[in-house]
Amino acid sequence: MANKIIGIDLGGTSIKFGILTLEGEVQDKWSIPTNILEDGKHIVPDIIASINHRIDLYKLDKSDFVGIGMGTPGTVNIEKGTVKAAFNLNWENTQEVGPVIAKAVGLPFVLDNDANVAALGEAWVGAGENNPDVVFITLGTGVGGGIISAGNLIHGVAGAAGEIGHICVEPHDGFACTCGNFGCLETLTSATGIVRLANKFAEEYEGVSDIKAAIDNGDMVTSKDIFVAAEAGDSFALTVVDKFAYYLGFACANLGSTLNPDSIVIGGGVSAAGEFLREKVEAYFKKYAFSTVRNTTKIKLAVLGNDAGIIGAASLALKFKGE
Ligand SMILES: [Zn+2]
Repeated sequence: MANKIIGIDLGGTSIKFGILTLEGEVQDKWSIPTNILEDGKHIVPDIIASINHRIDLYKLDKSDFVGIGMGTPGTVNIEKGTVKAAFNLNWENTQEVGPVIAKAVGLPFVLDNDANVAALGEAWVGAGENNPDVVFITLGTGVGGGIISAGNLIHGVAGAAGEIGHICVEPHDGFACTCGNFGCLETLTSATGIVRLANKFAEEYEGVSDIKAAIDNGDMVTSKDIFVAAEAGDSFALTVVDKFAYYLGFACANLGSTLNPDSIVIGGGVSAAGEFLREKVEAYFKKYAFSTVRNTTKIKLAVLGNDAGIIGAASLALKFKGE
């Protein structure tokens, strides 16, 4: 009887795989490097070979599996199983992904955008605790997100729902964003965004601060340096983190007032700042959110780390259950 699902998290440097139970428990996981050479033409064959090898290695049978789900960067056509504009994979033009993998492995296959898939993972067995209403925000080199409302992953009319990184939070004198707009959340609350904020504030700050001194000196300062200094009481770093928390809390308040989810889950590398950051974001969230939302929507930290991708991807395949 089919009682397993396969989740794939396709990224620019590695492809992560997981074999999971239908309840979302990871039974096995492995990864291979992503070969993006020659316009990324090796990626799909590498995925097929790796899955088939693993199934043979463990003497499993295709009939043990309900299906395969995958999260990918780029613009996804869910119905056709195609991906384009995934520049970190060298996939500029439309790639046939879903039908090719489904045929070569012999299992049903479904794919979605990587941030959406991570949201599904956290919502299912992570911080979302399987609640049907969860918003996920990931803070990394960029800012991504996913929205699950009444149990449905929200895609919108053109697949751009949940692009939380491009919510405008600084309409007056915002930094330029890669999307062409100014003042997007991503320009302020990504790993590079907080450094940008620190550089801006350093021009005006007159107190004593190691971080400000490092910036004035032209030294490389990371988002982690800023959070560590803030937690240690550096007043300049605290000013920067407070502004960061304001932008994120403001965005969370407006997402909350729109969707009233059970929780807004914050993940990604920058969220390693943990409870110190969460409570600051929550304070601004409570300040700006509608009263009912303020009292019912929770601000949480993600708990699955890197596994959110394979778990959420695998959950996509649950739709094949009973087929
Ligand atoms: Zn933008």
